Amino acid sequence: MVDQKQKDERYKARQEKVKAEIDARVDAAQEEKGIFLVITGNGKGKSTSGFGTIARAVGHGQKCGVGQFIKGTWDCGERALLEQHGVNFAVMATGFTWETQNKQSDTEAAQKTWAECKKMLADDSYDVVLLDELTYMVTYGYVELDEVLEAIQNRPKMQSVVVTGRGAHRSLTDLADTVSEVRNVKHAFESGVKARKGVDW
Ligand code: ATP
Ligand code: MG
Repeated sequence: MVDQKQKDERYKARQEKVKAEIDARVDAAQEEKGIFLVITGNGKGKSTSGFGTIARAVGHGQKCGVGQFIKGTWDCGERALLEQHGVNFAVMATGFTWETQNKQSDTEAAQKTWAECKKMLADDSYDVVLLDELTYMVTYGYVELDEVLEAIQNRPKMQSVVVTGRGAHRSLTDLADTVSEVRNVKHAFESGVKARKGVDW
């Protein structure tokens, strides 16, 4: 059993490592490099922002990949459009939903999608990789945080990565170059309006 003190020390060591690496990157600010962007918070607009970034890159002729970590987003309009433009999708077609019942099958599904994403994060032909809703996989323990941090840290230098999802882990936001938190002011769902195709998915 790992006690709280050990956990805190490990956390501190990891944070120091992350900080040292970020400081080193800031010192090299004249250099061009890929950006790690985290879009989190409870308001609407995280995934659409992530996909907007992919659309922007595709428009410049860049090669892009998308990992989608929540079952049910597979039929989203962005996929239908972007696959036609050569964007590679790794989709968690089975497994995790909000009504999840089976942790083992969810973990397997998440791991399978994560394995595909790791390949994109190790491939320098990709300019931008979106990891949509990855934050939940970390929170639920389906994908190891350290593995995610390592894959993002060790990615090709010019590759940009976007992670979306509520409650992004502190280590992810610490590592990120840019973090945006989308705040919920109000949402149509709260006044009983059904989710709209073309707006909500
Ligand atoms: P979007 O995909 O529209 O950019 P999102 O990625 O910020 O939304 P998620 O938490 O991934 O938000 O939720 C996806 C779905 O839930 C979307 O259909 C979205 O409209 C809806 N949603 C987002 N935020 C809220 C909210 N605060 N209250 C109710 N529904 C929400
Ligand atoms: Mg989303």
